Amino acid sequence: MLHCRKLFIPLLIALLTAAGWALPADSSFYQPPADQSQLPIIKGNKVKNIIFLIGDGMSISTVSYARIKGPGVAGALHMDRMPIAGFIRTSSADHLVTDSAAASSAMACGIKTNNGRISRTPNGDMPLSIMAAAKARGMATGLVATSSVTHATPAGFGAHTMSRKEQPLIAEHLLLNGIDVMLGGGYSFFIPKSETGSRRADERNLLDLARTKNYAVIRTREELMAARGPRVLGLFADEGMQTMRPEPTIAEMTARAIDLLKESKKGFIVMIEGSQIDWANHDHNAENSVRQTLDFDMAVAEALKFAQKDKHTLVVVTADHETGGLSINGGNVDGSEVELHWSTDGHSGATVPLYAYGPGAKLLSGFHENTDIPKAFSRLLKIENFPAIIEKAPAEPGQ
Ligand SMILES: [Zn+2]
Repeated sequence: MLHCRKLFIPLLIALLTAAGWALPADSSFYQPPADQSQLPIIKGNKVKNIIFLIGDGMSISTVSYARIKGPGVAGALHMDRMPIAGFIRTSSADHLVTDSAAASSAMACGIKTNNGRISRTPNGDMPLSIMAAAKARGMATGLVATSSVTHATPAGFGAHTMSRKEQPLIAEHLLLNGIDVMLGGGYSFFIPKSETGSRRADERNLLDLARTKNYAVIRTREELMAARGPRVLGLFADEGMQTMRPEPTIAEMTARAIDLLKESKKGFIVMIEGSQIDWANHDHNAENSVRQTLDFDMAVAEALKFAQKDKHTLVVVTADHETGGLSINGGNVDGSEVELHWSTDGHSGATVPLYAYGPGAKLLSGFHENTDIPKAFSRLLKIENFPAIIEKAPAEPGQ
């Protein structure tokens, strides 16, 4: 699939250019912050809500290049305004270079596991996720992604499987674990085998299951704008989203997720993933890397807008790992020309950046393991016994 895209996109661009058509403006949704100043440090307030944004494969170089091409060499991204910063070590239990599944497990459950596992320990035990712990405390929970909602990163926060490939099972877990708001792609994993486009091997219709669990099941941007909570399952693409109209943007999904979740009296926790920064970096597609990172930054802007008003919301932005080994090797001082070098088409073992804003943000300043992030959340939410192993596996499908 990656290889197809590599060939297809340049071909498409060549064809469109040859035909004299205007290409869709790549960063058409991007608006840099009007005020570039650093946001204040919030002291003393209790944390009621947590908005956790993960740029998949988003390295410091990815962010740097997006800044050059977005707000400009001397400009600031929305995430640049966050007053607390840190570094995150990403290695997994069995690899120096992690995959998204082990990294997600670490950031959801506070445990290191093997590459490929979805919130299962190397020997198959099931750890408690910060989402489940928050839910047990009465908080509302949400997942937003531009990949399938069953893809590795969101999966780690709402499912427990031995392999990231078990996406049909992950879809069931997400519903059985009652994540209140889920927005992204992945329709194919929710519809029965006999329906066109299904990626299931059985005849289970998880959209019916969702409806019996009081989810509003929606498929379009218009439906998202009109959706009422508390439970919403929005599947805007068969698998990964196109990240173009007519779909909602990640910023729109973020704003709507916050709208729906903030109705919860006991607060909420939501994980928002800019899933396709990773895919662009795997493809060495610098233009798409910028677009995906700027789209993600607009989601950060929505989170910060809410948190600035609310004053009891912690916003954390980080990456699960670095992808592509991008370096910025030269260019014009105004950034109009930039010389890039990609050193791998996979992931690398580099530490990744973390940015935080809101009450408790200081807990994440400096250098940390990825497992420290949910531990900090649990401390701020006064969740005891975290991390923890839950002995019992989740209910089998159909029970
Ligand atoms: Zn990747």
